[in-house]
Amino acid sequence: MTATIRTHLACPLCGGGLRVRYPDLPDRFETSVAPWRLDECSGCGLGMINPAPAGDQSCYYPSSYLSQEGDASGPVAGGLLSRLERSYRFDQYRYDFRLLAAASGVDVARSASYLDVGCGSGERVEYAAGLGVPHAVGIDRYRFAKQLPRANAELVTSEIVDFRPEERFAVVSMFHVLEHVEEPVAVLRHLGEHVVAEDGVLIVQVPNYGSAERRLFGRRWFGMDAPRHLFQFDERTVRRACEEAGLDVVAVRKANAPLHPVTLVPSLLPALDVQRIWVRPGRAWRKVIVQALWALATAVAIPVAWLQQVTGNASMLTVVARPGGRLRP
Ligand SMILES: [Zn+2]
Repeated sequence: MTATIRTHLACPLCGGGLRVRYPDLPDRFETSVAPWRLDECSGCGLGMINPAPAGDQSCYYPSSYLSQEGDASGPVAGGLLSRLERSYRFDQYRYDFRLLAAASGVDVARSASYLDVGCGSGERVEYAAGLGVPHAVGIDRYRFAKQLPRANAELVTSEIVDFRPEERFAVVSMFHVLEHVEEPVAVLRHLGEHVVAEDGVLIVQVPNYGSAERRLFGRRWFGMDAPRHLFQFDERTVRRACEEAGLDVVAVRKANAPLHPVTLVPSLLPALDVQRIWVRPGRAWRKVIVQALWALATAVAIPVAWLQQVTGNASMLTVVARPGGRLRP
């Protein structure tokens, strides 16, 4: 399969008409000849790259897109810094699972099984296994950037819609994946019908297109990430996508882990986009300096992100849903 281009003539969510919203989105990894264009549906507000990449999109993902996860030879090489960085990332996982518990009453640690859809290097799966989940699995369409051994975790390379497990999962998560898939509703429907247990729960997290950050930074907002983010959801459209897929939406939360203002720092200071720094060749000491500056900027950004959250403007949206809603014809 090779990369192709697909043009939206109408909104794939509601059939509404489209208008150009951002005509000149950059590709921060320079994997493609930017600019890309983001259209917005005048009916429901869904944002979409148009024309959009389709088919095998691996050419838009730098080989080290996810490789900082658990990479001890990365920019913060060595014992203490690596461990600090790891516990910082795990803080995000802890927060996400707490959010799920608060919204649905489901405690991942006490669940029989857990599946992370779009698991990347599988670190979150390993985290769940470490909590004591007896059956922890991750799937991803791309080969994992790092073939790290993951304790008690099974990682599978598969398209989401081709994945039909023999036993369905009690908890299924999809963190920062829905905005990357070509057919979000079809993917959610497949998960509801074939992957999430009947009494199970699905947690989906996407960047919040309806946030103040997006309005403030516009085309430079880090959550845009063209052309990898094919769709842009706000509270209304992510809820609608779940409902169209026949899921019962239990909760939609505008929230993110307080210590992780992930979109704010690189929106404001693109030079501190650590993911891009990792991807680019360069001297190790320079990367360490960038990382230190990033840590400093993150510390300064934490109260700002907190303020965004308490005013209902968090840059992340999390949906908790269960199978069993009525399918729309
Ligand atoms: Zn629409």
